[in-house]
Amino acid sequence: MQSLRERIVADGVTVGTDTVKVDSFLNHQIDVRFFEELARGFSMRFADLEPGSVDKILTVESSGIAVATFTAREFGYPPVVFAKKDLPSTMTEDYWFTEIMSFTKSKMTAIRIAKKYLQAGERVLIIDDFLAHGQAASGLVRLCAEAGCELLGVGAVIEKQFQGGATLLAREGVRVESLAVIERIEDGRIHFAEGRA
Ligand code: 5GP
Repeated sequence: MQSLRERIVADGVTVGTDTVKVDSFLNHQIDVRFFEELARGFSMRFADLEPGSVDKILTVESSGIAVATFTAREFGYPPVVFAKKDLPSTMTEDYWFTEIMSFTKSKMTAIRIAKKYLQAGERVLIIDDFLAHGQAASGLVRLCAEAGCELLGVGAVIEKQFQGGATLLAREGVRVESLAVIERIEDGRIHFAEGRA
């Protein structure tokens, strides 16, 4: 998606050779109009999905919630379910549970989804802001499998190809669609993968 690439170059701040900060529009401040464009990007990528064929959009709190919500509007307003990272005292019901290595916190983190919000037979699309090593996405894939859902695919706003998350998911037979694919970060410069996104 050309406009996203341009935005990443204009606003992105690299941290070392493995992290991009895009706080100005995605991770701290949200550019609402641009999110509409991102959501349309996902609807084009998943244009083969029949209208009404997405029962749930799944993400992880907190950065995935906004983009998942905008994307839901493009797919007929299915509910957005976000996995919770901490165990809130309000989560008294039975839940699906797995652990993932958090990229931003560099530690194992539990993610949970109440069983009543992820049920057998539901057709699920996973949407997140970044796809790096694929930990968050594959954690959600595991929860979908445990719940007996049908996984339609994973959509990432920004994929960092060099961290292998998309390859990992593809090996598990998961469809991945990324709106922008970063091949590498070198000397503070972001290089996008040619021919992808
Ligand atoms: P993964 O689980 O694929 O290794 O990492 C994905 C998660 O880590 C995303 O949900 C995102 O919140 C965070 N993340 C990974 N890489 C970056 C990055 O370069 N910048 C930011 N802001 N978040 C990232």
